[in-house]
Amino acid sequence: MPSIKQEAQRCLKCKNPQCSSHCPVSTPIPQVMELFLNGEIKKAGELLFQNNPLSAVTSVICPHERNCSGHCVLGRKGAPVEFFRIEEYISRFYLETMEIPHIGKNGIKVAVAGAGPAGITMSILLLLKGYDVTLFEAQDNVGGVLRYGIPPFRLPRDLLDIYKDIMLRMGVHFRPNTRLGSNIMIDDLFPDGYKAVFVSTGTGRPNKLGLLGETLGHVHFAVDYLKTPEAFELGYRVVIVGAGNVAIDAARTAIRRGHSRVTILHFMGEEDMTANHDEVEMAEIDGVEFIHYAQAVRILEDGVRCVRVKRITAEDGKVSFEEDYTDTFDVPADSVIIAIGQGPGADIRTAGVRLTQRGLFDVNECGETDTPGVFAAGDIVSGPKTVVDAVAFTKKVFGRMEEYLQNNGG
Ligand SMILES: Cc1cc2nc3c(=O)[nH]c(=O)nc-3n(C[C@H](O)[C@H](O)[C@H](O)COP(=O)(O)OP(=O)(O)OC[C@H]3O[C@@H](n4cnc5c(N)ncnc54)[C@H](O)[C@@H]3O)c2cc1C
Repeated sequence: MPSIKQEAQRCLKCKNPQCSSHCPVSTPIPQVMELFLNGEIKKAGELLFQNNPLSAVTSVICPHERNCSGHCVLGRKGAPVEFFRIEEYISRFYLETMEIPHIGKNGIKVAVAGAGPAGITMSILLLLKGYDVTLFEAQDNVGGVLRYGIPPFRLPRDLLDIYKDIMLRMGVHFRPNTRLGSNIMIDDLFPDGYKAVFVSTGTGRPNKLGLLGETLGHVHFAVDYLKTPEAFELGYRVVIVGAGNVAIDAARTAIRRGHSRVTILHFMGEEDMTANHDEVEMAEIDGVEFIHYAQAVRILEDGVRCVRVKRITAEDGKVSFEEDYTDTFDVPADSVIIAIGQGPGADIRTAGVRLTQRGLFDVNECGETDTPGVFAAGDIVSGPKTVVDAVAFTKKVFGRMEEYLQNNGG
C-alpha cells in the first residue's frame, strides 16, 4: 500500500474535482492535498475541521466508494486516490494537537438534544461562535451511534473521547443520562433563558418484524445488541435477519465475541443488499454465512422458519420478489437478532412540533420546525442515513439558526 504522501502525489489536481463535488460536505480536497504536500499539515487539518468538524470520523466510516474515491478520475482506468486515508491522518493529527481558540462569549443560551454526529457538529459550530451551549444526552457519553452502534473495530472509541474533551474545553455544559422529553420538556427550556433548541435525537428505536416469536427470550434487536454486546448471551448459533449495514455490524461483532456460527438471512440476493459492498466482503472474510432469498415468517424456540423467495426480472428490467409459501425451511439458531431498520423514539414529541407520517421531525429546507426557535437535523429528520449527511444538513441548519439567534437572541 502506498504511503499517504505517495497517495497524495498521485492526485491529478483536476480543475473540476469530482471527488469534492460528490462529497455531501464538499470537502475541498485539492486545497487540502496541496497544503499537505507543502508540509502544512495543521493548516490542512484546520481547513478540514472548519468545513466538517467530524472529518476525523467521516474519513474512517464514510461510504467512500459512493462519494470521494468513487468519483476519482483515476478510478476509471485504475486505482482511485484514497483521499480518505490522507484525511484520516490529517484530521486526527489536528484534533490531537488542536489549540482551542480564545472565543468571546456572547451569552446566548442554546440547547442541543442528542450528542450524536448532528449534535456534536452543531455544538462545535455554536461554541466556535461564542454561544452558551448545553448538550443533553440520554446516554452516559457523547457519540450517539458512533459510540453505541458502530463497533469499535470499525471506529476507535478514543476518537470520541477527543471530541468530548474538545467540546468541554470550548465550554460546553454536558448533561449525560438526561433524556429530553422524559421529565425536562422542550417547553421547559425557553423559560430558563434558552433562545433556541436543536433536536438531533436520531432514530434509535428498532423496527420489528411483526412475526410470532418476536418477544421470545432469545430474540434481540441489532441496535440494542450493538450498544453493549457484552450484556448478551447469544449461544453458539446466531441468526441475523436483515442485510443492511446494521446487520453486518451485528454479525461481525457476534463473530468477534466467539459465537461460532453467525448467519445473515436476507429475502433478497447479494446484489440487492443495502449494506456497503466493502462491509459485506469483510463479513465474508470474517466467516459470516449468508442465506439469500429467504423470508423469515416465524421465530421458533430454536430457529427461524423461512419461505423461499424468487427473484423475478420483468421484460423492462424491473426486479421484484415473490415468496413461495409452499417452500418452507427452518434455520437453526440459539439466538436471533433482528436488523430491519430503525425509527425515531416517541419521547421527544413535545412543544407541538409537527411530525411526518414516519414520526420524523417535519422541517423546512433549513431545519426549522413550525415551533419558533426549535430546529432539527440528522436522522431524526432524514430517517437513517449516514454521518456525513447528518453533518451536511446540520451545517445548513446552523446558518439559519444563527440568523434566528441574531434576531431573537438579545
Ligand atoms: C449500527 C450502525 C452502523 C452504522 N454505520 C455507519 C457507517 O459506517 N457510516 C456512516 O456514515 N453511517 C453509519 N450509520 C448511520 C449513522 O450512524 C447515522 O446516520 C448517524 O449517527 C446519525 O446521527 P444523529 O446525530 O442524527 O443520530 P444518532 O447518532 O442516533 O445520535 C442521537 C443521539 O441522541 C440521543 N438521544 C435520543 N433521544 C434523546 C432524548 N430524548 N434526549 C436526549 N438525547 C437523546 C441518543 O442517545 C444519541 O446519542 C450506522 C448506523 C448504525 C445504527
